[in-house]
Amino acid sequence: MKCNTCASSDIEFLFSNSLSSTVRMDDIPRDVMICRDCGQVFLDVSKISEADLGAYYTNFNPFEVPGALVEDHQSARREQCGWVVSNLEKHGAGVKSQRLLEVGCGTGFLLNLFNEAGFGVEGVEFSAKMAENVRKVYELSCHGGGFNPEVLSPPYDCIASVTVLEHVWDPKSMVAAFHELLKDGGFLYLEVPDAEFPRADMIPDHLAFEHIHHWTERTLGRLLNSCGFEVLEVAHIENAEDSGNPEAVFRIFARKGNGAGDCYAAVNDYEHEKAVLADFRKRHDAYRAAIQTKIRKFLEDAGDEPFAIYCGGLHTSSLLELFDFAGRTPACIFDGDMAIAGRELNGIRIHHGSTVAEHPIRHFLLSTTNHERSIHAYLKSIDAGYRVAGIYTDFPDEG
Ligand SMILES: [Zn+2]
Repeated sequence: MKCNTCASSDIEFLFSNSLSSTVRMDDIPRDVMICRDCGQVFLDVSKISEADLGAYYTNFNPFEVPGALVEDHQSARREQCGWVVSNLEKHGAGVKSQRLLEVGCGTGFLLNLFNEAGFGVEGVEFSAKMAENVRKVYELSCHGGGFNPEVLSPPYDCIASVTVLEHVWDPKSMVAAFHELLKDGGFLYLEVPDAEFPRADMIPDHLAFEHIHHWTERTLGRLLNSCGFEVLEVAHIENAEDSGNPEAVFRIFARKGNGAGDCYAAVNDYEHEKAVLADFRKRHDAYRAAIQTKIRKFLEDAGDEPFAIYCGGLHTSSLLELFDFAGRTPACIFDGDMAIAGRELNGIRIHHGSTVAEHPIRHFLLSTTNHERSIHAYLKSIDAGYRVAGIYTDFPDEG
């Protein structure tokens, strides 16, 4: 096993994530490792292959569904576009007629903002369906399928990639390819989850699959330096609950450089990051104890009546696996994603959210970081007498 950032083989096992399987993968990578020579944190993926990972993302697209983004996602995207534009200006580059490539452009909302800001844009999106959506909705150039430099038309003035790199099998090769695709002095904008500020107040493990790689500002800076990028700007962002990305992230704005200003080239975050993660685990355990109390109260309120869980994602499989339901089993799970309706999660059938009224269930436990308020409103619109409790959100009117 080798560190992707510094190629060292001096790797230490830190701990195993608590979850061993999800509805999307039976045996998920869960061992958290750290490189002693640079401090990069990553999951041990030695039991799966790069092809397995590709198949996983082809069969289950867990990202934004095609269609409109909710307002908070949109404002987050506007802010990202503004950050790139202001940094280009700050570092002596304009926007007009600059060619920008976004890798992992999702719905195309951000790509279109770049387009409206004056860039000539091109997108790459792993999901062919999403790429088609970008071409149709925004009439922008977008390549569907894995990142393949062969199909692109370099050189670019700027490459943007937002919360993509942590999912990738070999991020260093991808960053090296970005370097090749940029013209001399071209700019790179990256955003990834911040391994220095892991969020403890969520049920799933912060370091859980699908994120394979976890960087601090300094370890990603080291990777960038080693690929010929000079880090110009760094920003740490605490995303809002409804941002679609409810965790601490950081951004890096870098320039294809000449080796000058490579201040991260020799950093080692090992001691620091190991301490950060030990503290995180303590806080996470305390948080989970509080969730257990909420579940106990929900079950007491439901009495002998059947109850359901709403959302069949990672949060719910974690919820079912990690918490004590006093021997009671949900009658079913509801989810708005057609792709998982009809499947089972921990042996419990998942039904599409549009069928709620067909079931004799009046107690719902919501389990999703992003959408508890809108699902609460949806259920109440079906029957104001439903009892709806949130795992993450408290609804005071539920008494
Ligand atoms: Zn390393």
